[in-house]
Amino acid sequence: MTPALRQVVESGLDDFDETPRGSGLRPCLGSVTLSILTAVYILAVANQTFWTRAYTHLSAYPFPFAAFVIGISAVTIAAMTAFSVKYLIKPALIFFVLVSVTSAWFTDEYGIIVDREMVRNAVVASGPAAAHIITPAFVWHIFVTGILPSLFILWVRVEHRPFAEKFAWNMAIILPCVAVFAAAGLGFSQTYAAVGRLHRDVMLTLNPFIPIGSAARYLFSSEDDRSVMRYALGMDAHQRASNSGKPRVTILVIGESARAQNFSLGGYSRETNPEMKERGIAYYASAASCGTTTGVSLPCMFSAYPRQQFTHRKGLETDNLADVLGHANVKVEWWDNNTGSYGVANRIAYRFLPDAADSRFCSDGECLDTALLDKLDSWLSRVKGDTVLVLHQNGSHGPAYYQRYPDNFRRFIPDCRTAEFGACTQEEIVNAYDNTILFTDHVLAKVIDTLQRHGDSVSAAMLYVSDHGESLGENGFYLHGAPYLFAPSQQTQVPIIAWFAPDFSAASKIDSGCLARKSAEPASHDNIFHSVLGLMDIATDLYDARLDLFSACRDTSAGTKKAAGNG
Ligand SMILES: [Zn+2]
Repeated sequence: MTPALRQVVESGLDDFDETPRGSGLRPCLGSVTLSILTAVYILAVANQTFWTRAYTHLSAYPFPFAAFVIGISAVTIAAMTAFSVKYLIKPALIFFVLVSVTSAWFTDEYGIIVDREMVRNAVVASGPAAAHIITPAFVWHIFVTGILPSLFILWVRVEHRPFAEKFAWNMAIILPCVAVFAAAGLGFSQTYAAVGRLHRDVMLTLNPFIPIGSAARYLFSSEDDRSVMRYALGMDAHQRASNSGKPRVTILVIGESARAQNFSLGGYSRETNPEMKERGIAYYASAASCGTTTGVSLPCMFSAYPRQQFTHRKGLETDNLADVLGHANVKVEWWDNNTGSYGVANRIAYRFLPDAADSRFCSDGECLDTALLDKLDSWLSRVKGDTVLVLHQNGSHGPAYYQRYPDNFRRFIPDCRTAEFGACTQEEIVNAYDNTILFTDHVLAKVIDTLQRHGDSVSAAMLYVSDHGESLGENGFYLHGAPYLFAPSQQTQVPIIAWFAPDFSAASKIDSGCLARKSAEPASHDNIFHSVLGLMDIATDLYDARLDLFSACRDTSAGTKKAAGNG
C-alpha cells in the first residue's frame, strides 16, 4: 500500500474516533452535507439513462417534468441522509456510489435494466462469459466514477453531532424531502400515471434504488428456492411402439442470443443461412421466446407450463421435459457449451464441454460450438434406444461475438474484434453478429449431415430453437435481458428450425407440404415441450396436441389430448 493510499484508508477509519487529527488539507464535512453531496453525485453521474428517458417522455409537460426532477432528487437526498449515522455513513455511501456507477455502466452502455432476472443471470452465469463484460473501459469507468469518489468519502473528516441532535438534523432534511417527493408525485399523478403506463422502463433505470431493490428481491427469492419441494409430473408418460424398427433420435439444439431478424431463412437481406437453406428444413419465422435471458427461457421452454403461467419457482419444483421423457424411458443427455442448464438437466446425463478444455476449439474457458459436433459421430454409432440429445450452444453470446466463430467464418467484414462496443461502429457489431449466425447455420447443417450419415442405424429429427434474441443497438439497446413487457422484438423473436430424416417423416406420417404451410403461423417456446413429446411419440396427459408444432401435419390416430397439468 502506498503511503498516500494508507493515509486515505487511515483517515477513513478515524470516523471511529472522535478526537480531531490528520493534516490540515483534509476537509471536514458535516455528515448531512456529505450525504447530500453523495446524492447529488449519484443523481448527476450515475443516472444518465434515467434522466434521458425521463426527459424524452416528460419534457412535453414542463411543470410535471420539473416536479419530477425535484421529487426524485429530494427522495434520493432523503435516502442518503437516512444513513447519516456514525460508523454507518461511510460504508453506506461508498456502497451506494459503487452500486450506482456499476449499474449505470450496463444501463448507459447496453440499455440493460438491472432487474431481478438480470441479478440472477449475473449470479448464475459462469466466469468466462461474464468476464467479457469486464473490459478496460469498464474498469476505467469504475475507477474514475466509483473508486475515486469512494476514496474521497473515506478521506474527508466527518463531523458527527451527539445522537439526539443528529437525529433531529437528519429528520429536518428527510421529512421535508419526503414531503416534496410526495407533493410532486400527487400533484401530477395523472401525467405520471399516463406516461408511466406507456414507458414503464423510465423508473427501472433509477440508481441506486433499482439495482439494490432487484438484488434484495433476488436474495429473498433464492432463499425461497432452497425450500422448494419437487413435484413429479407426467408419471403416466409412455412411448407408443416405434414404427421404423430403428432407435428414434431427436437432437434438440438450443441456440444462444440468435434473433429471428438476422436469419436469411426468414427474409434477412444478407445470406446468413447458406447451408440450412439446402437441407430441406421447416423454418418458423415468427416465434416468441419465453424470456429475454437464458435463465428464464431455458427452464420455461422445458417446463410443461406456457409462458403466461411459468414462474421461476414452478420451473424448479416440477418435472420438466427432460424428466417426463425419462418417465417414458427415453434416454436424455445434455451437452452444454454455454453457461449450464439452469437446473433443467439436474437429473439427466450431463456434460459441460468447456471442462474438457479441448485446445482444438477451446481457449480461456470457452469453446467454439464445433465442440458440440466433435463427439456426435461416435455417440450416434453407440445409440441403442430412443434418445433425445440436447446441444446447448454458445451461439451468438455477446458482447464478444468475434469469439464465437472461427476465422473462416469471418464473411461479413469489417467485424468488431473486441467486447467493447464503444470501440466499434454499428456496422462492425452487426457484421460480427451476422458471422455468429452464419456459423450457427454451419453447426446446424453439420448436425443434420451427421444424422444423415447414421440414417441406416437411427431414425432422426433435429429441432433448433434460440433461447432469446439480441439487441444490436436499436434505440440504444444492446445484448438482451430487457423486462419482457417492453422488450424490443429483437430480443423476443427467435428462430425455430425443424428437420426430419426421410424415414422419420415416413414413420411419423409428417406431411412436408403441410409443415411448410404451418411454419408460417406464429409459434413460441410454449411449443417446445409438446413438440418434442410428439416427435418421440410419447403419450401423457400433459401432452397438448394444439401446442405441438407438428401434430396438425401428422396423420395420427392418437387424437387430440386435453391440456392437463397446465393449469
Ligand atoms: Zn441466452
